[in-house]
Amino acid sequence: MPLLTQAMIVRTRFAPSPTGTLHMGGARTALYNYCLAKALGGQYILRIEDTDAARSTQEAKQALIQDLKWLGLNWDEAPYHQSERYAIYQDLAQQLVSKGKAFYCFASDQDIAKARESAKYPAAFQFQSPDRDLTLAQAQARLQAGEPAVIRFRNEFKDQSFEVHDLVRGKVVLSGDMVGDFVILRADGSPVYNFCCAVDDGLMRITHVLRGEEHLPNTLRQLMIYQALSLPIPQFGHLSLILGSDHKKLSKRTGARSVGDFRQEGFLAPAVINYLALLGWSDPKSRDLLSLDDLISVFTVDRLNPAGPMYDEARLRWMNQQYIRQLQPTALWQAIVPYLNQAAYQLPQDPAWQTKSVARLMQDWHQLTDCIPVYAYFDQYTPPALDTQATSLIQTKEVRQVMLAWQSQLDTIDTDPNQPLDPITYKSFIKHIQNHCGVKGKQLFMPIRIAMIGCPQGLDLMSTVELCSLDLLRKRAAHYLSLPGLTIAD
Ligand code: GLU
Repeated sequence: MPLLTQAMIVRTRFAPSPTGTLHMGGARTALYNYCLAKALGGQYILRIEDTDAARSTQEAKQALIQDLKWLGLNWDEAPYHQSERYAIYQDLAQQLVSKGKAFYCFASDQDIAKARESAKYPAAFQFQSPDRDLTLAQAQARLQAGEPAVIRFRNEFKDQSFEVHDLVRGKVVLSGDMVGDFVILRADGSPVYNFCCAVDDGLMRITHVLRGEEHLPNTLRQLMIYQALSLPIPQFGHLSLILGSDHKKLSKRTGARSVGDFRQEGFLAPAVINYLALLGWSDPKSRDLLSLDDLISVFTVDRLNPAGPMYDEARLRWMNQQYIRQLQPTALWQAIVPYLNQAAYQLPQDPAWQTKSVARLMQDWHQLTDCIPVYAYFDQYTPPALDTQATSLIQTKEVRQVMLAWQSQLDTIDTDPNQPLDPITYKSFIKHIQNHCGVKGKQLFMPIRIAMIGCPQGLDLMSTVELCSLDLLRKRAAHYLSLPGLTIAD
């Protein structure tokens, strides 16, 4: 079947149920639908499937919308809400009843449970409603008497097979007898998922449906509904589940989390998009790094892989690092401000310092949260606590001597204390201490680093010198040399 026939406007949709957070699998489904529509000059629609009133929440819906916007997957038509379309579903269900393609069923839950219990194979149980052959007049009389009833679809396709040319999985044959007469409208008038989904895809002229493979069994009921209502049938593509390192469906234990979690953990939207795109789809040019625009320009469904892709946190982190490095310093600073505020660091307000600091410090960041331990070194008021190694090192005479020599070098100059040391002066200090204390290499640099940031390893000394004012360096040296429990030598 051709993907596109002439004059057909491609319309895809993402149809989340607002019952929880947007997970990776959902975001990937949204992304592929978005790319497919955009690649073919079509439209991408957001439809909120909120017919499960007990489980749908306003908060979940808001979060979904926020996450999709954050990812940059903006829809072309205002989001549709199925909860606002009940009249449409009710009307179509009535139409099916009047044509004999659906019927009122008065069986109670207890009746159905009883029938299930006495079934030979409860797992394959299909309810045979005693009301299947009531006339419409008989059913209406009972309704008027106040008896509650659901509307069931009359499955008259039991001897038929439905062949689907799935865009991902190829030919799939669904046998009509896999389902019984299924409910389309509950007794309270609320529609069930399969009914609204098929109705909406038909009425909204959706041409392609990419969704998770867990929906493959639903396709059978939906095909019956399209047929009964003479609605156009979209092309389906059922995407494989994302797997964890244990080869099972990705779980919390193997790294599953929501888009909101990724955002909070300091992943950038383009990195998440890039990563999800390659989780089940491959670039014809085998590139690792692709923007959303790149994806749109090359996206085709034939590169969707039917094999379940495995989630790889290290690869996502690597991609995120590449995107962090591509950010301009000002943008990167803006991106880390929320984390720095959360950590309540008191950092210089000077924009020049801010951009210089990110440019200096970001090389090893894989997530924006990696800025948190690093910026602790530059808090203007709270010196970082001594780490364990530094705590024992500063008890030694050799280390203290170097620290004291560093402190006195800092006192030899009277340049502006609000400015950092210039590199030439810093190097001359180092030379002097080296000669004065007779130490070099680690013995020289570890104590100086302790005097600056309270730990012997970590930050590169030159970066620290460039990002600390002379005043801060003096205060830090005085602080670390004055910590209680030290035996002052010399
Ligand atoms: N509302 C369904 C879900 O969230 C999606 C159904 C579909 O894509 O057809 O799983």
